Amino acid sequence: MTKIKRIQPWRRFASVVQAVIIIGLPFLRIRGESALRFDIPSLRLHFFGASVWMEEFFIVLIAIIFLTFLFVFITLMFGRIWCGWACPQAVLIDLTPFADKAKSKGMPYRLGAYSAVLLASAVVAADLIWYFVSPYEFIQGLAAGSPGNVVWGFWIVITGIIFLDISLLRHKFCATVCPYAKLQSALFDGKTLVIAFDPGRKDECMKCMACVRACPVGIDIRDGLDSACVSCAECVDSCAKVMGPGGKKSLIGYFFGLPGETGGILRQNAIITGSVTAVFLVFFIYLLITRALFDMTVLPNYSYPPRFEAGAGVINSYILSVTNRGRDDAVVTVEAKAQNSIAEVVPARVPVRAGEMKKIAVYVAFRNSGKIRTIKNIDISIGSLKPGRVLVTKQARFIYPDGG
Ligand code: SF4
Ligand code: SF4
Repeated sequence: MTKIKRIQPWRRFASVVQAVIIIGLPFLRIRGESALRFDIPSLRLHFFGASVWMEEFFIVLIAIIFLTFLFVFITLMFGRIWCGWACPQAVLIDLTPFADKAKSKGMPYRLGAYSAVLLASAVVAADLIWYFVSPYEFIQGLAAGSPGNVVWGFWIVITGIIFLDISLLRHKFCATVCPYAKLQSALFDGKTLVIAFDPGRKDECMKCMACVRACPVGIDIRDGLDSACVSCAECVDSCAKVMGPGGKKSLIGYFFGLPGETGGILRQNAIITGSVTAVFLVFFIYLLITRALFDMTVLPNYSYPPRFEAGAGVINSYILSVTNRGRDDAVVTVEAKAQNSIAEVVPARVPVRAGEMKKIAVYVAFRNSGKIRTIKNIDISIGSLKPGRVLVTKQARFIYPDGG
């Protein structure tokens, strides 16, 4: 059993820290954008300094697979630790105990309590929206009279749902609706961390029922594990208060597996799940670090057949599709060369906005020298202006016109 005697102060502290992080994160800006936000208008995921566009969503898919394995691993190892310590819904319930009391109090208290719940619901609903719409734009829009009809609609609906959840459902949500709660029991094994009553000390139980009274979902943990348990540890502290004066530890506590059972927690399924989780994390970080911010495809420009022009030489035209997946607008240089001959390219510079896939016709001319008839393939490159470096190079056919 853990040596922590009072768990609730630590849970309250974790709740406040979590609330500050969740509400503060959309306001935190890294390289000019929210630290974490899926920007609906531009369909971009801002992730701690990186911006992932819709077309790169395989990176997000890998992140989702990683998070799924992480949840499975954490649940396998630490059971309902998420419900007890990290679930935002549980945090909201913990931070609004007055809503529980309101049912048995007079009208003024009820009015005050439900107004506070409504205000908290509106803030939480706005916070959810800030993960999709910039909080700075949201607040600016609000100050100007309206953040927009769609945002208003979502804000009102989400506020209503959260208000009903906090004021009416509360812990019933965890025991009845929450899909994660239903899933968890399937992920437990014999060594998962659980809150349990120690049957080896059942003779010490004073049958005071303090643990049952403290339980927000009304279960008696002495009867064994129950899928409705939200792992809040209220019963642990209640029993500790009862047993403390007699110099004894709580009869209820955290155990890896059932109390009294032995065996290591590093079992085979935990090692496999943990390893797969780590592999996906490494893969995700690798994709994020190595992703190319620019891409280009090159196709012949069929509306401009190869030709010879006096003074210019042999000209071929191509359609370049240049994609800028970076955060900023950019101007890329376009170059073409073959067999140490540098071609003249028009246009030599192409502006591409952030997130844009720009199609542009470019004209590549080689002076008509004796060497030119040997050119079959050329390299077309786009590069950055500052520092001047090649971003993407593609090969294309260069055709000598008939009769040229
Ligand atoms: S039995 Fe009740 S009080 Fe104890 S951890 Fe579970 S939900 Fe909380
Ligand atoms: S609080 Fe402790 S002593 Fe009291 S009934 Fe529950 S387990 Fe027994």
